[in-house]
Amino acid sequence: MERKIIYSAVQPSGNLTIANYVGAIRNWVALQSDYDCFFAIADLHAVTVRQEPAELRRRTLELAALYIACGIDPEKCALYVQSHVSAHAELCWILNTLTYVGEASRMTQFKDKSLKHAENVNMGLMDYPVLMAADVLLYQTDLVPVGADQKQHLELARDLALRFNNRYGETFRIPEPYILKGSARIASLQDPAKKMSKSDENPNASVFLSDDRDTILRKFKRAVTDSGNTVVCAEDKPGVSNLLQIYCSFKGCTVPEAERAFEHTGYGDFKLAVGETVADALAPVQAEQQRLLADKSYLSQLLKQGADRAFYAARKTLSKVYRKMGFYRGE
Ligand code: ATP
Ligand code: MG
Repeated sequence: MERKIIYSAVQPSGNLTIANYVGAIRNWVALQSDYDCFFAIADLHAVTVRQEPAELRRRTLELAALYIACGIDPEKCALYVQSHVSAHAELCWILNTLTYVGEASRMTQFKDKSLKHAENVNMGLMDYPVLMAADVLLYQTDLVPVGADQKQHLELARDLALRFNNRYGETFRIPEPYILKGSARIASLQDPAKKMSKSDENPNASVFLSDDRDTILRKFKRAVTDSGNTVVCAEDKPGVSNLLQIYCSFKGCTVPEAERAFEHTGYGDFKLAVGETVADALAPVQAEQQRLLADKSYLSQLLKQGADRAFYAARKTLSKVYRKMGFYRGE
């Protein structure tokens, strides 16, 4: 039986956070044996927000090393850099002609990022979900494992696929979101109403996978909690609930188990325990990433191999798209 296809990506737009780890990458490891997986480093997406060229280059390689350190096996899946496969940009252009400005401007992430980068509300920022639709549709993807924050974008990808198929005939497979168990939305440590995000300008809001133990402990120590003094998950305790969520994600336990464990613990000690749990879990991943980064030519060779695999699959879809649309392809 044909294996189902999975596509997902992370932008090299900043250092990865623990939300990217528990919400995304960590869950992908289990998928690679059962599915044909395409995992990209989304540099084309990253430049929708201003990037420092030298940093972008460095982070791209760091992200590749991190994927592998987290357990992604470049032999089992296509691990590659988005800009190495030009079909992404090409299909994005085509899908742009099917996207209404109204629907693109209604996207929550576009509105959020426009407020955050008011000085740079560029066309690419609004086009982000269309490029994401191109990413996913290029590979005839069945399932897209993403964090809950990307659900709306995936809806658009489905709409665009259906619209194209209706207009030009069956071309794209309609992708489904794959919100994995345990991949809850992690909130900012400084404002539990906001999602944790690697491009947050407040460094205390996010815990990065590159943070050392002391920094991790300090950030959790400063994390906002709520009024009261009991460690319970409740709607009126968004700060403590988020910390409990993080703790459970790293400890591999359930919320009631964690609540019981901290029944007689004050907020100070609870935050210390969360910090220690996270630091312990990250230490081996960090060490492996550093080891991999020591051999850049090996990493670069793996990425090239990944891009070749992705290119082959992407080109098939793109040729079909051009043909269906009536682009002259020669006699
Ligand atoms: P940026 O702020 O630059 O958009 P980001 O932290 O949102 O960065 P992305 O590269 O946009 O990271 O997303 C990478 C993956 O991490 C996606 O699958 C996304 O759904 C997931 N993700 C991002 N933030 C969270 C979060 N707070 N909780 C759970 N998953 C998340
Ligand atoms: Mg994001």
